[in-house]
Amino acid sequence: MDETSILRYSRQIILPQVGFAGQERLLGASVMIVGLGGLGSPVAIHLARAGVGHLVLADGDRVTLDNLHRQTLYGETDLGRPKTQVAGECLKKIRQNLALTLHEARMDEPSLLRAVAQVDLVVDASDNFPTRQAVNRACVVQGIPLVWGAASHWEGQVSVVLPQSGSPCYRCLVDCREAPPKGCDTLGVWPVVTALVGGIQAHEALKLLLGLGDSLAGKVLLIETQSMHMHQVAIHKKPDCPVCAHPVTKKRITGP
Ligand SMILES: [Zn+2]
Repeated sequence: MDETSILRYSRQIILPQVGFAGQERLLGASVMIVGLGGLGSPVAIHLARAGVGHLVLADGDRVTLDNLHRQTLYGETDLGRPKTQVAGECLKKIRQNLALTLHEARMDEPSLLRAVAQVDLVVDASDNFPTRQAVNRACVVQGIPLVWGAASHWEGQVSVVLPQSGSPCYRCLVDCREAPPKGCDTLGVWPVVTALVGGIQAHEALKLLLGLGDSLAGKVLLIETQSMHMHQVAIHKKPDCPVCAHPVTKKRITGP
């Protein structure tokens, strides 16, 4: 690590749980963020600022006016532009040596599987059930840790899936047959709730990269912001879960 990096990250390097070894680990890590909206904005900003070496950003949307109350990567001059491009520019202003890979088009299942296999961790910051199920499936198949989050109205949820440890997955908690096909993108949401949930997702992701503390694997953190109650509820692994019931077998990925 050079002198500039030591100075830049000094306030976190002096934390005994991080140190030089932890910072080196973050600088060498790659994380995929799926969804660059209200959750993905704080996730991307915190991971870039903390020194994660490589961020893979996936979002097929463009910036719209009703995004701006909560999606902190964007401003009025970005309206109509692809979110991945604007997010990349914003993150580069924060840190020039951040490595970025942008997926501007919506990803089909094979491309999602390939992208997930190339990172150390995935943060699902999407706003709909089909994407969350697809990202969960890809992470379980590839054995890659996943931090997922959701926010609507005044409430939020965060959890972690550790496929290599056999933890329950998102599908164990939410069955697609029960979940509405549409997501949360048309529901009301308080902007600070997305900032809180995204901040907690970034925190969990950094803890996992550093191997620190207890993760939210096997639990979902429920956040109710009007009463400011937060509590954890256990997620039970479904013995017949079509995604995670069988041991992880890495699929062969062929071709681009
Ligand atoms: Zn499962």
